[in-house]
Amino acid sequence: MSERITMSPDGVLAVPDEPIIPYIEGDGIGVDIWPAAQVVMDTAAAKYGKKIAWKEVLAGEKAFSMTGDWLPEETLEAFRTYLIGIKGPLTTPIGGGIRSLNVALRKALDLYVCLRPVRWFKGVPSPVRHPEKVDMVIFRENTEDVYAGYEVQAGTPEEKKLAGFLREEFGWPIRENSGIGIKPISEEGSKRLIRAAVRYAVEHGRSSVTMVHKGNIQKYTEGAFRSWGYELVREEMSDVAVGWDDCSGVPGNRVLVKDTIADITLQQVLTRPDEFDVIATMNLNGDYLSDALAAQVGGIGIAPGGNINYETGHGIFEATHGTAPKYAGQDKMNPSSLLLSGVLMFEYLGWTEAAADIVAALESTIADKIVTYDFARLMEGAREVRCSEFAAELCRRI
Ligand code: NAP
Repeated sequence: MSERITMSPDGVLAVPDEPIIPYIEGDGIGVDIWPAAQVVMDTAAAKYGKKIAWKEVLAGEKAFSMTGDWLPEETLEAFRTYLIGIKGPLTTPIGGGIRSLNVALRKALDLYVCLRPVRWFKGVPSPVRHPEKVDMVIFRENTEDVYAGYEVQAGTPEEKKLAGFLREEFGWPIRENSGIGIKPISEEGSKRLIRAAVRYAVEHGRSSVTMVHKGNIQKYTEGAFRSWGYELVREEMSDVAVGWDDCSGVPGNRVLVKDTIADITLQQVLTRPDEFDVIATMNLNGDYLSDALAAQVGGIGIAPGGNINYETGHGIFEATHGTAPKYAGQDKMNPSSLLLSGVLMFEYLGWTEAAADIVAALESTIADKIVTYDFARLMEGAREVRCSEFAAELCRRI
């Protein structure tokens, strides 16, 4: 019998064998990649006596054409009720009331972690010489920073008021006709993000957490993020983790927490990727870093993502690419980003064996050069298959 996933008062997910999981098919190529990813997830789950009771919920173009609403309240309610869900890409309505449906979902459920693991699959075309050294998990803060949306447009009465206040009260010489954005970075927001990253490192046997920041320049925002991180480790997590300065870089069997400046990090993830393991960072740095890293291991057709609130248990897992509308309905695209988001979801549910089976099937299929067009055009001697054929091959191997 299908049941809800619930969260116990002590913060442990209770996952039945037949959980109800809401999904958004997604716009554009969602019609191609969703069925492909779903059949692979179902096959892997069935191997371990599990069955997902998929519950379709609407968002994006499909929702708009059927209900006149881009993000119906029932969809939000379903994610609230069933805790965990998955989604394909969504069109961002241009000129509509909602800036981005993805941001709206994250805000509504306070999904403060954007989880982006980045690893290489043997055989995937990569622009770097040693892609096998890339195996990082990025924890990007999802609710604060310049992404909070606190901006005023140049020349508006709001801008004049804010700029006037800053000139008068702070003596800041803001130029006439400036766009102004506010960058809030809170202690609470920083600590819960870094706490989640350190816990993840402990639970997954990772050796370090690197806090990436621009604290040398932005002292009271990004610099504070760094300081709060070390404070948290010292005060709350010293049994499992230790800051660099508190152990001179020798952590023993604890997770080492260190920090690097954002600009040099973008060089070092290229030149010495094996020195990075789990990364904890703020919204904007995390945005740049996750896409730059994804490029090292084969690009957006394969990069998965998850948005999680570890306290409430809520999580929405999602393909990180867009709707690629020119390819919609052609059964051509790579379903791996959505499928690997499903793998992240399985791991979050505790279905680690089924998750590992999907990963193993992907590894061997790509290594045998059976791939969709995006990889086939970059690989010599590849056999190009359709999206659905790629999924069928994965199922056969599982
Ligand atoms: P996009 O949809 O990600 O597509 C850009 C290019 O990336 C495609 O033309 C294709 O490259 C490649 N690509 C994307 N997904 C792929 C896949 N599954 N397999 C293989 N290749 C893939 O970006 P966009 O064209 O800038 O955005 C289109 C729409 O998506 C916009 O409305 C945007 O707002 C939305 N969007 C949504 C999300 C989300 O929901 N998470 C994220 C980003 C964008 P080639 O043409 O070179 O083959």
